[in-house]
Amino acid sequence: MAQIQCLSPHVADLIAAGEVVERPASVVKELLENAIDAGAAAVVAEMEHGGLTYLRITDNGCGIAPEQLPTAFLRHATSKLRTESDLAAIGTLGFRGEALAAISAVSHVDIFSRETGAAMGAALHLDGGVPAEVTETGCPEGTTICVRDLFYNTPARMKFMKKDTAEASAITGIVQHLSLSHPDVSFKLIKDGAEVLHTPGDGQLLSAVYAALGRDFALGLVPVRGCGGDVTVEGFVTKPLSGHGTRGRQIFFVNGRFVKSQLLSAALEEAYRNQIMKGKFPGCVLHVTLPKNAVDVNVHPAKTVVKFVSDKTVFDAVYYTVLDTLSVKPAGQKAEISRSAVPRAAAFGVPAPEQSAPPERKENFYQTMTAEEYRTKNPAPAPSPAPAPLGSFVSRVPPAASEWGRKLTVNDGGSRPAAAPVSARTAAQTAGTAEEKSAQKAAEMPAPPVQAQEMPGQQTFAAAAPWRIAGEVLRTYIICEAEGGTVYLVDKHAAHERLRFDALKAHPAPVMPQVLLTPLTVELDQDAYTALLEQLPLLREFGFACEDFGGGTLLVREIPDYVDAADVPAALEELSEQFLSGGGKAESARDALLHTMACKSAIRAGMHSDPKELAALVEKVQSGQIQYCPHGRPVKVKITRHQLEKLFKRA
Ligand code: ADP
Ligand code: MG
Repeated sequence: MAQIQCLSPHVADLIAAGEVVERPASVVKELLENAIDAGAAAVVAEMEHGGLTYLRITDNGCGIAPEQLPTAFLRHATSKLRTESDLAAIGTLGFRGEALAAISAVSHVDIFSRETGAAMGAALHLDGGVPAEVTETGCPEGTTICVRDLFYNTPARMKFMKKDTAEASAITGIVQHLSLSHPDVSFKLIKDGAEVLHTPGDGQLLSAVYAALGRDFALGLVPVRGCGGDVTVEGFVTKPLSGHGTRGRQIFFVNGRFVKSQLLSAALEEAYRNQIMKGKFPGCVLHVTLPKNAVDVNVHPAKTVVKFVSDKTVFDAVYYTVLDTLSVKPAGQKAEISRSAVPRAAAFGVPAPEQSAPPERKENFYQTMTAEEYRTKNPAPAPSPAPAPLGSFVSRVPPAASEWGRKLTVNDGGSRPAAAPVSARTAAQTAGTAEEKSAQKAAEMPAPPVQAQEMPGQQTFAAAAPWRIAGEVLRTYIICEAEGGTVYLVDKHAAHERLRFDALKAHPAPVMPQVLLTPLTVELDQDAYTALLEQLPLLREFGFACEDFGGGTLLVREIPDYVDAADVPAALEELSEQFLSGGGKAESARDALLHTMACKSAIRAGMHSDPKELAALVEKVQSGQIQYCPHGRPVKVKITRHQLEKLFKRA
């Protein structure tokens, strides 16, 4: 066995650096946090090549004394922590005294700093953590740190770096989060010479949200404020109708620190239960504040994970604060306590919210009734729409609202200047919402009773097909009776989606791109934005002509004919999610686009379908050609005679 020896400080620093400095974004995070801790009112971050070749952070904080400059770069050197007892109540963002040591160990660093009120500043250069001499220099009050050629001496780490766009996007995410946690500080981010973000630093959270996350997101928010025990919750949450395709816009801060927390997400989503469309997630910018000793931030070197002393108190505070805001109710009354909060809360080891207040009725449709309740209260069947033309599966109601017709409405820019891009979400809000609502209502209405004579094969089993269609329920499920007394329920959308997917995969249909008269802008969270940017050529091939509009926004000039303009943000969000889960592989990205094509052009649940179409579809399902939809859900379920007899206590 080789001799056991202590590692040299240089090797120990390199190993430690690996934990703190994972990628350029971690450098930006540490340096910006130092600037905030130094009391800066304005910070500028500049990056080139995703921060890999060049990063510069400039602040107007308190500065560092010349003689302290080399000390700041030593491991475990900090001005923020003195004794063990200080650890229990950390009030600054940094405290480990590791960042400058770690960053300088894996790059070339130049630092210039002048203390507030000092006549002169000082400069220091470090190569791989080895400092040169401190020199006196003239510089503005505050600190500027330049980091060049990150990971130049750790090639193994360099191999893990993603494309510049992905690293730049991660940096943007960091700056967004910090600007939202510190609305009193002005943040500017410059990427390859162009400004991508600039917050005013006026102390208003909404101004920071607007500047950092975009106008559309800001307009879809409502303010929330509340407390429970010694936990206060404050910030903004999305209106139920402004849900997002991913959780990327759920942004939480605990005592001013950005955190990722399943507990907080669960509390937020629980408050939206039954109020938000399926598949949509609420977004938020929420600040949770609690006593310093009620939370442990020292769980992980990156400090994005926190542990609460009382999970239940925090869960309840977030849940009730959001629920109170979403509930329309007379002033002074406590929000209704949802029983459904129990299972999710329990999953985190959190006892259920106390059932103290009597349930009360709220006015809002989304909040008062479940789909079942709505159906029982509105038993009248919807008027039967005119039979759809035969021969095509794509039969949609109402026929008047053709996609192209709606596109024209959206593009009819009114007083907007012709070239100004229209925000897609705004377009969706104005043009699509009423229709979406009516489509959703239609989906919840009982389907018109299917006339016996409409259904082919209703009377007898045809010789060629040993099954017959007995009807359709909920405008979604086809009931099919097979010989031998077995009943099948077929999900018409799932089945048709699979049929379309297989057909498109075998013979990709030419996409008909529609040029939008006025381009749309779609704001995305950083991960979604990066994932889509990496697939721009493929998106174009499938009819989405998009361009990078900077700052997490895509500019969409053309869309495929099978997608409605109002659906574009949702479609792109869905695609990004699939690109991300496919790990950026070309084949899975192509499949994701085929899924979207198949899904958007398939007959929809909740819409009237021609009986002949349904019969043709059941034929494919019963012949075994189709078993699962492209998302892996079954297209049919089987109910045996025995199961039915058991239900009726006959067996
Ligand atoms: P930590 O932030 O955990 O204390 P760092 O390695 O990030 O450790 O920084 C070491 C010390 O250098 C800090 O404690 C602080 O005193 C000083 N420092 C770092 N950056 C700045 C800055 N931008 N302005 C003023 N002081 C700074
Ligand atoms: Mg620090």
